[in-house]
Amino acid sequence: MGKIRDNIAAINAEKERIAESCGRRGEDVLLVAVTKTRTPEEINEAIEAGITDIGENKVQEVVDKFDSVKPVRWHLIGHLQTNKVKYIIDKVAMIHSVDSLHLAQEINKRASGHGLTMDILIQINAAQEESKFGISTEETDQLIRDVLETCPNVRIRGLMHIAPYAENPEDVRIYFRQVKELYDKFAQISHERLDFKYLSMGMSHDFGVAIEEGSNLIRVGTSIFGERDYSKKQ
Ligand SMILES: *Cc1c(COP(=O)(O)O)cnc(C)c1O
Repeated sequence: MGKIRDNIAAINAEKERIAESCGRRGEDVLLVAVTKTRTPEEINEAIEAGITDIGENKVQEVVDKFDSVKPVRWHLIGHLQTNKVKYIIDKVAMIHSVDSLHLAQEINKRASGHGLTMDILIQINAAQEESKFGISTEETDQLIRDVLETCPNVRIRGLMHIAPYAENPEDVRIYFRQVKELYDKFAQISHERLDFKYLSMGMSHDFGVAIEEGSNLIRVGTSIFGERDYSKKQ
């Protein structure tokens, strides 16, 4: 106990330092605590330490923990199968991992059924890694156009990017920069359902570079809670 609080304080100080070093404010960068594999007790400790937003990458974990976690904004940050959208549509505040029209249309259908509008981010795979989900920067225009045309209950709030893992985060700065350029292009457009506010990039080992390149939402797990143990049954 106490460790999670200390880690959060350290990350907040670091994000403030980096944001200010490039003329921005620490509070303009949202810290989303990534809580996959963590227990509701650990998550509640983070919330008590000031965390307002948490991110899960699996639908099952959202469903399992939802009732045991204090009021907080939930983000779905991992790959989402269309047949599981219905389980989280009334639980999460934003879905970061939209990379197909098919998925956007399912979100639209379920959101409409609940009388709500769902905020989404388009996931960009700037490095075109086979192992990662997301669309290329070239495909973004078309997907956004199609979502606007066919998904009245979906609001596109920005872009999400997972950089390739690099020992030295400087090596992936180029990808953050590419996604920021794309973000700026759409941010200029004024449309009721294309209302860019979030550029979701940066994790424990690369959030410094991501903020320097314009990220305003970082997703941090390990640096808050420690290394994940996937062998442990939750
Ligand atoms: C696990 C995860 C993170 C957090 O990674 P850490 O290295 O633990 O900070 C961020 N984003 C996504 C999509 C993840 O799945």
